[in-house]
Amino acid sequence: RDYLERIEGSRDSNIYLTVFTEGAVARARALDAKLQAGDAPGRLFGLPMAIKDNIAIKGEGLTCASKILGNYTSVYDATVVERLLAEDAMFLGKVNMDEFAMGSSNENSSFGPVRNPYDPTRVPGGSSGGSAASVAADLCMVALGSDTGGSVRQPASFCNVVGLKPTYGRISRYGLVAFGSSFDQIGILAKNGDDAAAVLQVIAGDDGSDSTSSHHEVGDYAGEMDAVSLEGLKVGVPKEYFPSTLNSEVRDLVQARLDAMQAAGAELVEITLPESDYAIAAYYILTTAEASSNLARFDGARYGYRSAESEDLAAMYVNSRTEGFGKEVKRRIMLGTYVLSAGYYDTYYKKAQQVRRVFLDRYREALGKVDVIAGPTSPFPPFGIGDKTGDPLEMYLADVFTVPASIAGLPALSVPAGFDSSGLPVGMQLIGNFFEEGKLLGIARKVQ
Ligand code: GLN
Repeated sequence: RDYLERIEGSRDSNIYLTVFTEGAVARARALDAKLQAGDAPGRLFGLPMAIKDNIAIKGEGLTCASKILGNYTSVYDATVVERLLAEDAMFLGKVNMDEFAMGSSNENSSFGPVRNPYDPTRVPGGSSGGSAASVAADLCMVALGSDTGGSVRQPASFCNVVGLKPTYGRISRYGLVAFGSSFDQIGILAKNGDDAAAVLQVIAGDDGSDSTSSHHEVGDYAGEMDAVSLEGLKVGVPKEYFPSTLNSEVRDLVQARLDAMQAAGAELVEITLPESDYAIAAYYILTTAEASSNLARFDGARYGYRSAESEDLAAMYVNSRTEGFGKEVKRRIMLGTYVLSAGYYDTYYKKAQQVRRVFLDRYREALGKVDVIAGPTSPFPPFGIGDKTGDPLEMYLADVFTVPASIAGLPALSVPAGFDSSGLPVGMQLIGNFFEEGKLLGIARKVQ
């Protein structure tokens, strides 16, 4: 009830799209009854959670913050939802996001932007802005988000929380509405690494419903966290992650964290990732290509919104998509269709695939020499609502440090690194080797 009251009192921040007011109370009662009956509590007993509105909960809406899914009700539970419920977690509601997870500021939501809990005139980051803000504003304890190119880590940085994007395939995507399927991962936003690890422990692991989920054995995350020591830890610091254009306060705060790690026994190793400049270009070619294909299913016939009056079937498709999708989503469908079309495929799509391979090789090579790669999560602190909406390319640059781990499929997290002189949060990103989530969370615990 405390959480529900706070949610009610924070309507202006536009964080929750749906609040399960009655459902959450009923769930609490049912969990209590279970305890009274002498049943053993699940591992996440009573954990109040917020779920990004692109993750399916049976019988609830699944808007993806899009008009096109405005009236859609999910007919099944995502695998993560099933696993959380089996361990007695409880859901407080669905939270705001950029439409179809496309964005870095939450301003692409058809339900309007979310306000940053640290400064309501600023964005919370995106696309999991509602998830990050809900944790920061105490409107849940842990939230699920999704990360295609930074959508968990960047809002975590903007809202002063921990945000983990696991290794590609670590968490089942079954029930997560697809954006760029070879990049998408469900991620966790929490106050600290320990809370994130507790949830990861439950939702990670192979799933027969997602052929891209990994068979790799799930680690003992609490144990792996305990095993982490900064003594002798090799921290790779890529010089490309500290360009001259980097906001100077972000630079100083992240450098201070690195210095503190060094003082605690870590070894800072300067490394170079020379292809970093191509990350944004490769990312926006590959993800828009995948998005143009994934979003073809929203045709007015099978799901959600259908335009009221159309002369024939083709017009119905066109009108439903024209009226149902927002501007950024349309921009990406067009861009993706273009880079996949005959004549441009080799020039753009194939080239970007080759660049992806180079990134994988480079990061593998780097992570053979160091234990972890560290740098800023975002090149700047949270910006003002409306400041970057006029120029999509400038908005895309918000992801410059987060997309490489997504291109390579590596696990990465953002951990709070302090506040700038205006009191705005700044995050530090840690990138680890495949399936080293426990190690990353352990380092986060030590540096937070
Ligand atoms: N901001 C990036 C984009 O707009 C990342 C989004 C995401 O990770 N879902 O594509």
